[in-house]
Amino acid sequence: MENRLKPMDAEQLREYGHKMVDFIADYYKTIENFPVLSQVEPGYLRNLLPDSAPNQPDSFQHVLDDIQAKILPGVTHWQSPNYFAYYPSNSSVAGFVGEMLSAGLNIVGFSWITSPAATELEMIVLDWLAKMLKLPEDFLSAGQGGGVIQGTASEAVLVVLLAARDKVLRRVGKDALEKLVVYASDQMHSSLQKACQIAGIHPENCRLLKATSSTNYALSPEFLSETISQDLTIGLIPFFLCATVGTTSSTAVDPLLSLGKIAKSNGMWFHVDAAYAGSACVCPEFRHYMDGVEEADSFNMNAHKWFLTNFDCSALWVKAQAFLLQFATTELA
Ligand code: PLP
Repeated sequence: MENRLKPMDAEQLREYGHKMVDFIADYYKTIENFPVLSQVEPGYLRNLLPDSAPNQPDSFQHVLDDIQAKILPGVTHWQSPNYFAYYPSNSSVAGFVGEMLSAGLNIVGFSWITSPAATELEMIVLDWLAKMLKLPEDFLSAGQGGGVIQGTASEAVLVVLLAARDKVLRRVGKDALEKLVVYASDQMHSSLQKACQIAGIHPENCRLLKATSSTNYALSPEFLSETISQDLTIGLIPFFLCATVGTTSSTAVDPLLSLGKIAKSNGMWFHVDAAYAGSACVCPEFRHYMDGVEEADSFNMNAHKWFLTNFDCSALWVKAQAFLLQFATTELA
């Protein structure tokens, strides 16, 4: 009994690791046999599993049999070649093998000393990716800027919104929170509204400006300018503009150059959300969709969407990393 409760050793890892890889390779081989959308009813799993955790260890083969019989029917097969929902979001074998390494080493990279190689590799690879995307040099880590991996694009927009909020509050005083205004088109992903809620931006100060077919669902710079002027007249403080390159519902692209100039002339933080379509911009023929990104303070794309990388991996670059560090450490006035 005591032996059975011992953690697995390296030789057992070798044995079970090979079995697990075989299991996944067989899954990939037969994936087209599954209906892409799981056919189970809500709550199906509770009837198939015991009420409480087993007291005794189970054999590895039995666990795999359970996965085959009880778990796979409840999986929606994002890796299937027949999967066409939402947006491209498949991983790759290379991505999966890399995840094995990361899981095996159990890297915790929240600061340099917790794993120097992780921090340094992150900076180097995000510089590579920034160069592939032809981001302006200000976004590279050699200067004041740099890239940092976030879990999701939702976290990325929250991080920069908080940085921008604290930057403006340091200037105007923290009591001005209720006057801060955020702008984006109504095609913007719902993550911005959620970030505003978390950041304490008043819901009525989150301006989602209507974009219509007349602009191919892109945010109109004229409409933005008019709205900002009206807000300034009534004493509000515009501080954050979010543009999208490739909106979730229709891949609309906002005109970054003109929007960025408006943001700059009003002292606002300008974030570009290319979560979905940013990956395509590594191709020279699509890079023009990002023209104007030089006006941005921050830029984000999801490697886990269209870059054959496992969920979750969202790349965020900023021109001035100081604002991300300050919001973590500096007291507001
Ligand atoms: N922004 C855009 C344009 C998106 O398409 C999405 C997801 O579909 C997001 C943001 C949110 O991404 P995440 O799920 O990584 O938070």
